[in-house]
Amino acid sequence: MPPHNDPSIPCPLGAATLIGTLGNRTNRRTPTPKTHDKIDYARSLVKSFTNQRRQELRRKGQRRRARVRKVETRLRWLLAAGFGLALWTGFFVQASAAVDESPPPGNILNRPIAGPSPTPASPTAVPTSPTPIVIGHSVEGRPLEVYAFGNGRHARMIIADIHGGYEWNTAALTDQLIEFLTRHASLVPPGVTLYVLPSMNPDGLARSHGYDGRANANGVDLNRNFPLDWKATWAPEGCWNYLPITSGTHPLSEPESQAVARFLLGNGIEALISYHSAALGIFAGGDPSTPQSLSLAESLANVSPYAYPPKNTGCDYAGEMVDWSAANGIAAVDIELSTHYNLDVAINRRILYAFLNWQP
Ligand SMILES: [Zn+2]
Repeated sequence: MPPHNDPSIPCPLGAATLIGTLGNRTNRRTPTPKTHDKIDYARSLVKSFTNQRRQELRRKGQRRRARVRKVETRLRWLLAAGFGLALWTGFFVQASAAVDESPPPGNILNRPIAGPSPTPASPTAVPTSPTPIVIGHSVEGRPLEVYAFGNGRHARMIIADIHGGYEWNTAALTDQLIEFLTRHASLVPPGVTLYVLPSMNPDGLARSHGYDGRANANGVDLNRNFPLDWKATWAPEGCWNYLPITSGTHPLSEPESQAVARFLLGNGIEALISYHSAALGIFAGGDPSTPQSLSLAESLANVSPYAYPPKNTGCDYAGEMVDWSAANGIAAVDIELSTHYNLDVAINRRILYAFLNWQP
């Protein structure tokens, strides 16, 4: 018998016996054809099992991924729905806020407003446009139009734009206040009538929004044309002096100042705001300031960021409307808006509210 280690000769004992009993490495590397079959079969079984397992895992993975995708999709829908809802809610709140321009709160900058708080008009109330009263005409024939709100026996007045186009924003602000009051008429307390003159100097307003718009059509500074402390000329230091301007030929020489003086005294006005711009603050009328004007100035300063006491530029003010008004028993103040272009609407709605409810 030839030696078993000759690979060319089949082993007489058979592959199984050979593998089971001999465990010879050399023989395992060189199995007989029958052994090959069994190993191949075993390999194919393993391979088949492995493939099945792989497919099963793949299917499980696919199912898991599908589940994850489903959850992700649901989350996306939920997020989208939430976002949509948030957008819609925000829009609704904004829209409501735009419609409900309720009056300013009774407390701003943590300082109280004097007087009772009237109930605001319903935002759904149908707005009405008041018809203005024409109290006179400018040099060039433009009407001086006064709007009236309420019908109480205590009369108050707002006059804007005494300095024409140079302070055009005071007229624009007052237009907005008129519109606001038209929609919220019940802001005016029962005992009060409020008169509003949006432009005391319509000629200057029509001429220019610059320095050249300050005077009336006669070249007169209307706020130097009133009878108290009237001066034909005044020192320019600290005063507005960008262009030549006069105080008129005599006190109340101008049709605009005549009409206003007549209206203030003829209608028993008790309190007056005169709007200017810009930035100097709130001035109490009178020379010296009267107690009533000081009280009003303080009340309005409490609800606004405007300087009070006002900034002192060193100007020697002469023939001013609020000083003359105060000397005639009217609580009167000048209010300067923050700039020559801002309307300061929110601030001045608070001032309006405080003015309407101010108690002397
Ligand atoms: Zn002014």
